[in-house]
Amino acid sequence: MDFDVIVIGGGPAGYPAAIRAAQNGLKVACMDGWKNYDGSRAFGGTCLNAGCIPSKALLESTELLHRAQVEFAAHGIETGKVSFDLSKMQKRKASIVKNMTGGIQQLLKAAGVTALQGHGQLLPGREVEFTAVDGSVQRLKAQHVVLASGSQPTALPTAPFDGEHIVDSWGALEMSSVPKRLGIIGAGVIGLELGSVWRRLGSEVVMLEAMPDFLPMADSQVAKEALKHFKKLGLDVRLGAKVTAAKVVKGAVEVSYTDGDGAAQSLKVDKLIVAIGRRPHTTGLLAEGTGVTLDQRGFIQVDEHCHTGVENVWAVGDCVRGAMLAHKAKEEGVAVADRIAGQYAHVNYAVIPSVIYTAPEIAWVGLSEQQAKASGREVKVGTFPFLASGRARAMEASQGFAKVVSDAADDTLLGVHIIGPMAGELIGEAVLAMEYGSSTEDLQRTIHAHPTLSEAVHEAALAADKRAIDMPNR
Ligand code: FAD
Ligand code: NAD
Repeated sequence: MDFDVIVIGGGPAGYPAAIRAAQNGLKVACMDGWKNYDGSRAFGGTCLNAGCIPSKALLESTELLHRAQVEFAAHGIETGKVSFDLSKMQKRKASIVKNMTGGIQQLLKAAGVTALQGHGQLLPGREVEFTAVDGSVQRLKAQHVVLASGSQPTALPTAPFDGEHIVDSWGALEMSSVPKRLGIIGAGVIGLELGSVWRRLGSEVVMLEAMPDFLPMADSQVAKEALKHFKKLGLDVRLGAKVTAAKVVKGAVEVSYTDGDGAAQSLKVDKLIVAIGRRPHTTGLLAEGTGVTLDQRGFIQVDEHCHTGVENVWAVGDCVRGAMLAHKAKEEGVAVADRIAGQYAHVNYAVIPSVIYTAPEIAWVGLSEQQAKASGREVKVGTFPFLASGRARAMEASQGFAKVVSDAADDTLLGVHIIGPMAGELIGEAVLAMEYGSSTEDLQRTIHAHPTLSEAVHEAALAADKRAIDMPNR
């Protein structure tokens, strides 16, 4: 069968590419090989099946639990002892995932995309060998092929996954009982989100992080504030920790590591999550002679337009360079589909928001204060604490602050950093402002509703020029 476009991979990079290509009037197939633990097949990739969506479902349930336990009393709400049913939480999560992944299949169908479940392999000459779930094999031909094969957890040779005691992020989302002692290797985004989930459910959580600094990718003022709150929650973050071995002994995991001073240490836990990053997934994707190349770290090599260098073969999402984020993947998929149709497309890599869905939530876009200074610019900075926000106070959520980093010479907004309630929603305004090349003054002159959390971003912009109203300017 011939198609205009074949997309291999139906995650946040692949399915939007397929839908947009179909919207552009092209004949499209999208194939996906995802297999769930129970053997069922689903579109949506890591994000919907084992990443963004299930993690956010559990984060929401456990944050509500935590708030009921520690915050409700402050509102004068008396509950008695608050308890939880993990199996119900897990069922709720599973039903959200099922609903969302089923929705993707409906979206593909509605757009007229041929959705195929099974494995795809690119052959030379833009042919694709498709092996369906029932084992049948067919050769398909396309004018264009989009590779969107995603990523998978990086394994740690000193702590190999066994699927039961030493698990990856997917295994950590599926646990059916709360481990009394939980170890996490890697205090990055996954470690912090899943560490928060299980800590709120009662686990004693120890996180072993190799780097000497906490959250080095975030603004350092934000990282410092975050560490304070995570410690208060009870996350025991140990920096500079190098894991030398992990072995399962009588149902527990014994972890050996060296601490920040180089001294040998050990830790005994009931479960160990390894969350040290993800690597591109290209197993069985490329037959001999396609001409598509991988870089040293295994990412499919592409140019700034996501073109592989092989005529009409493109690659998008986690399997190529750049942030491993669902929204970056989606924008690349859509942009490639538009390019294929000869339309204008652009992905602004300088303005990709990052969000960590902990409590308090963390979000940023653009340059941190440290990066802005390192770029040689003269920088002005404004911060506004949620403690001074009426809405945050009313919500009993006044931790953290909003921070604006601007160019002192021409007033350009360089970065916005938020740690506090709904930071992931608040960052949208900053993303739009930066996308439009807004100045700090533009943000200052924009009317923000009162009382809202967004006033913190407004006041932080004012504070950059020492013109904040709702707090003393320093
Ligand atoms: P994937 O989602 O990995 O999809 C690739 C798909 O292609 C898979 O279904 C795979 O089975 C299929 N495939 C691969 N090879 C083939 C082949 N040869 N033939 C057929 N099919 C194939 N990002 C965010 O932006 N926000 C978040 O909150 C967030 N939370 C996360 C939480 C966790 C626990 C994890 C693990 C990740 C999270 N991410 C989050 C990252 C996000 O999931 C990824 O960036 C995103 O899924 C990348 O999309 P993708 O389409 O490139 O790859
Ligand atoms: P990460 O890069 O965020 O964090 C990995 C951490 O492990 C880092 O701090 C790193 O220094 C540490 N590390 C690496 N090797 C180590 C070792 N041997 N011992 C101890 N620590 C070690 O990666 P992740 O948390 O695994 O997440 C993977 C990807 O998924 C990320 O790129 C992230 O963007 C994406 N993700 C995003 C979200 C979100 O957007 N909210 C949520 C989850 C995952």
